[in-house]
Amino acid sequence: MALVNDHFLKLPNNYLFADIAKKVNAFKVMHPKADVISLGIGDVTQPLCPAVVEAMHKAADEMGTFEGFRGYGPEQGYDFLREAILKNDFLPRGIHLDLDEIFINDGAKSDTGNIQELIRWDNSIAVTDPIYPVYIDSNAMIGRAGLKGEDGRWSNVIYMPCNAKNGFVPEIPDRRVDVIYLCYPNNPTGTVISKEELRKWVNYALHNDTIIFYDAAYQAYIQDDTIPHSIYEIRGARKCAIEFHSFSKTAGFTGVRCGYTIVPKDLTAATLTGERVPLNPLWYRRQCTKFNGTSYISQRAAEAIYTPEGKEQVKATIDYYMQNSHKMLSTLRSLGFECYGGENAPYIWMRIPDGFDSWHFFENLLYGANVVCTPGVGFGPSGEGYVRFTAFGNHEKTEEALDRIAKWSRKV
Ligand SMILES: *Cc1c(COP(=O)(O)O)cnc(C)c1O
Repeated sequence: MALVNDHFLKLPNNYLFADIAKKVNAFKVMHPKADVISLGIGDVTQPLCPAVVEAMHKAADEMGTFEGFRGYGPEQGYDFLREAILKNDFLPRGIHLDLDEIFINDGAKSDTGNIQELIRWDNSIAVTDPIYPVYIDSNAMIGRAGLKGEDGRWSNVIYMPCNAKNGFVPEIPDRRVDVIYLCYPNNPTGTVISKEELRKWVNYALHNDTIIFYDAAYQAYIQDDTIPHSIYEIRGARKCAIEFHSFSKTAGFTGVRCGYTIVPKDLTAATLTGERVPLNPLWYRRQCTKFNGTSYISQRAAEAIYTPEGKEQVKATIDYYMQNSHKMLSTLRSLGFECYGGENAPYIWMRIPDGFDSWHFFENLLYGANVVCTPGVGFGPSGEGYVRFTAFGNHEKTEEALDRIAKWSRKV
């Protein structure tokens, strides 16, 4: 008899966005003529930029010739892409990495979910709350998160609430934790962390022998030059942090699939007998066993982002989304809503009026304005009382959605 991994049975049945889709579909069945605008799911809408498309065509043509054909590539990625990353994302910020500290991935979701394989099942983990659900769910699948309680909290996870009261700056835990997940700029709140605050986390980690898993998927949206793009801008982070990047939000690669993970060679974890083991070779070993690399075409596409034309085009798309974001912030604020984020990230985190819970507000907005948002509670217990809007729509739809919200909010 094959026994199931019953940790899976502890997970909530549905992924958040599947729940949302179900409710939106129910609405559409009842109102077939309604034109629903989604400011909900965090997927991009603008097409790939010309530099990327050209690179993909070229790579595809190469693959169709004897000389240019490539089969399995290196599991950790091609050097041409790793060199471009090093030269553009790290050296200008004074960060020196070895090429074999960079692992090309097929997007950050896989690696943020898989990275926990490097640590024992009985490590303690802490997350900021609300949070990208992958971090906890991937730990829950192997039993590290414990059980999910009625209050939506997992018994073995330490939650660090981020809310309006603390200005979305999580408090450093008052006890030692083995592993901490941080994500900045943050999904879902759209808020950022200053260098001074991030330095406190790195110092905590060095002092307590903690590993930080740092998700920088939205770093390209940072507009304020004082905000760190990488945790390695902080001295000592090479000894305590793994960092995840993705081209999904940077360059519209949600369907192309490519990103990268930094596992510094200075980062170690302990054995039960107190020996120190570097994690870089372990991750390399893991990837060689379970991953056969990102497609050559995707990696050539990613490389094109770092050409002068690519950089300009990618920036233009980010600016386009940030114009949505600014418009959303100013409109929602003028309607009297309390809004956070949206300045260095494509997300607006909006406090909902008293008397609503976040699913209730979601349904009211759907039925009243035909606009979809994401209920904050879907990202963790501290998300209750908030909803998330994304700036990834096109200008016309976003403005139309804002007009509808304005009309609707005057009525309620
Ligand atoms: C979108 C997103 C990612 C990246 O996902 P990909 O797998 O690279 O498409 C990673 N982390 C967060 C927090 C995200 O929102």
